[in-house]
Amino acid sequence: MSTTRPPGRDVTATRYGISRDELTVLLDGEPRYRVDQVWHGLYGRLESPEEMTNVPAALRRRLAAELPVSLEPVTESISDTGDTVKFLWALHGGAQVETVLMLYPDRATVCVSSQAGCAMACGFCATGQAGFTRHLTTSEIVEQVVVAARRARDGGRRVSNVVFMGMGEPLANEAPVWGAVRRLHDDIGLSARHLTISTVGIVPGIRRLAERDLPVTLAVSLHAANDELRDELVPINRRYPLEQLLDACRDFIAANRRRISFEWAMIDGVNDRASDAVELAALCRRLQPAAHVNLIPLNPTPGWPTPGTPPEGVRAFRDRLVALGVNATIRANRGTDIDAACGQLAARAMPTQSAHPVTLTTATAES
Ligand code: SF4
Repeated sequence: MSTTRPPGRDVTATRYGISRDELTVLLDGEPRYRVDQVWHGLYGRLESPEEMTNVPAALRRRLAAELPVSLEPVTESISDTGDTVKFLWALHGGAQVETVLMLYPDRATVCVSSQAGCAMACGFCATGQAGFTRHLTTSEIVEQVVVAARRARDGGRRVSNVVFMGMGEPLANEAPVWGAVRRLHDDIGLSARHLTISTVGIVPGIRRLAERDLPVTLAVSLHAANDELRDELVPINRRYPLEQLLDACRDFIAANRRRISFEWAMIDGVNDRASDAVELAALCRRLQPAAHVNLIPLNPTPGWPTPGTPPEGVRAFRDRLVALGVNATIRANRGTDIDAACGQLAARAMPTQSAHPVTLTTATAES
């Protein structure tokens, strides 16, 4: 069994919070190769200290005690189709967050939370409706990926992509998020372009991201292409209006030579009209060919009365965008039945939850 951190213990003294230098100090007196063994066990083989059979048993016990985990599992829920798993975790201090593992035919993606709750207050989002509790540490973020990757591996799959699209605004918790990106890239070996940071439009954060030394992918939750509507749907727009956001996106593309995704949660009668498509197309043209639109049928949440656009309306909106020269796709919803889909993460257990491991199958649906 994993050991969780006792109250009051140093937050960095967890197995995915400790740095390699700190591990070297911790292993003082051991043969020098021990640091490599333990580090590779944690990140390369995704092992707990108890599983590191190449390490003496006494040291395994010591590592387990001195490097506790930072996530306490609460429940696991699996979708009816068997290709989406949602993990609910309790954090040190009592807050809860969620992680979602999605298996596609060609890739396995983990959607991680970067904060417990969110202060951005987007009305249609279950996380925003619940308010902000606290930032997550690098350790808490990395551990979400490690545990999900172990689950994927048990089903014969390897996690290839990580998206920071769970609970929270990643660019409002920049240093721990970047610390996690570095670990995922440097130590777990994920490609930078398969690490996606999603933001609701924190302009200074986008600009700093453009200057980082890893070319991660950027997704911007746009949802409206005029300031009046966006002020309403995404309140941070009042601080960083569309013109500023577009400038930052343009600079990001220039610096990173990477395409940007605009996420568009489709809300019936609100942002799915012909005029919305025209405005969105005009905005995308200013970044072409480096903008891609992801249409996401809005998922039901308790605090938002307006339903999502029906499927035929979503397809019509996509066709309209394509006719206007925009690269647009519809994102298939995953895990709606377990509240694991976009905008639904609110850290609560579902009746279908299981505290036991479940068998994963691979979906055939397109993303
Ligand atoms: S959509 Fe994203 S930024 Fe907005 S409230 Fe939800 S988690 Fe926060």
